[in-house]
Amino acid sequence: MSKPLTIREFFKRFPTDEDCLKHVWRVRFGKLKECPKCGKPASFHPLSKRPAYSCQHCAHHIYPCAGTPFERTRTPLQLWFYAIYLFTTTRHGVSAKELQRQLGVTYKTAWRMGHEIRKHMGKIDGDDGLSGHVETDETFVGGKPRGKPVRRGKHRPHKKTVVVGMVERGGNLMTHVVPAAKKHMVFPLINRHIAKGSRISTDESRLYIRLRDEGFKHTKVNHSQGQYVDGDTHVNTLEGFWAHFKNSVIGTHRAISPKHMAKYLGEFEFRFNLRSAPGQMMFDRLIQSF
Ligand SMILES: [Zn+2]
Repeated sequence: MSKPLTIREFFKRFPTDEDCLKHVWRVRFGKLKECPKCGKPASFHPLSKRPAYSCQHCAHHIYPCAGTPFERTRTPLQLWFYAIYLFTTTRHGVSAKELQRQLGVTYKTAWRMGHEIRKHMGKIDGDDGLSGHVETDETFVGGKPRGKPVRRGKHRPHKKTVVVGMVERGGNLMTHVVPAAKKHMVFPLINRHIAKGSRISTDESRLYIRLRDEGFKHTKVNHSQGQYVDGDTHVNTLEGFWAHFKNSVIGTHRAISPKHMAKYLGEFEFRFNLRSAPGQMMFDRLIQSF
C-alpha cells in the first residue's frame, strides 16, 4: 500500500464537522450550477443552524448528506470521517470494539458504522472484467477448526464458507461467496468476469478441468505433489490474499458469520485493488461512494 493519510493530515483537512460537511458538499454538489428549485444560476452558502446549503436567490435548502448513512444517524460527521479514515489506513480491518473505543460511541453504533463502511468499500472494489493472465482459486473460511470436536450448545461454530477468488496479474482481485465448491457454481462466475481467451492459472482441483472447453487457456500447478510454481504459473497472489484475510479475521474479529462474509471480503478487496492508489485517494473514493 502506498503512503496512507497520516492522522495529522486527517485532522488538518477535517478539523470540524463543518469542514466534513463542506467536503460532502463539494463531492456531491460541487458541480451544481443552477438551483434545482428556482432554476437560476446560483451559488450556495452553508447555513449555520442546520447541515444544509442555501440558494442565494430563493433560499432553497439542499442537505448534502441526504440519502447517505450520515443523514440517518446522530453520530457527528467528523466521527464518520474518522471511522472511514481508520478503515482506509488499517491493513487488518477494524473491529466494532476498536471503533467503539476510538470513537467513544456505543458498541451498537460502532457495529453499524463498520458495516455501512464495508458495504461501500465493497461497492467500489473494482468488480470489472478481468483479462490477460488470471489466477483462480477457492478457499474455505471460518468454521470449526480441523480436528477439534464440535461443541454442543449455544456457541456452535459457524459452517465453513466457500469463497472463489479471481485476480488479474497486476490488476484487480474479486471474490464471491458460493454455497459449495461445485463446477456449476464456479463456472458462471468465471464466464461472467473473465474475458474469453484469457489465460487462467489454477491448482490441480477438478473444479477447473473444463476451462479449455469454455474458451480459456489453462495452466496449472499441482499442489498435492508439492508443486507451487511452474514458471509464471501459480496462484500465489490469491494464496497470499487468503492468508492475509484469514489471519486478519482471526486477529481482528475472531470469527465472521457466513451471512456477513461477503462484506468483509469486499473490505479487503477494496484495499487490495486500491493498493497503489495514494492513501488520500482511497479515502476520497470511499467518501464519494456514500
Ligand atoms: Zn434557488
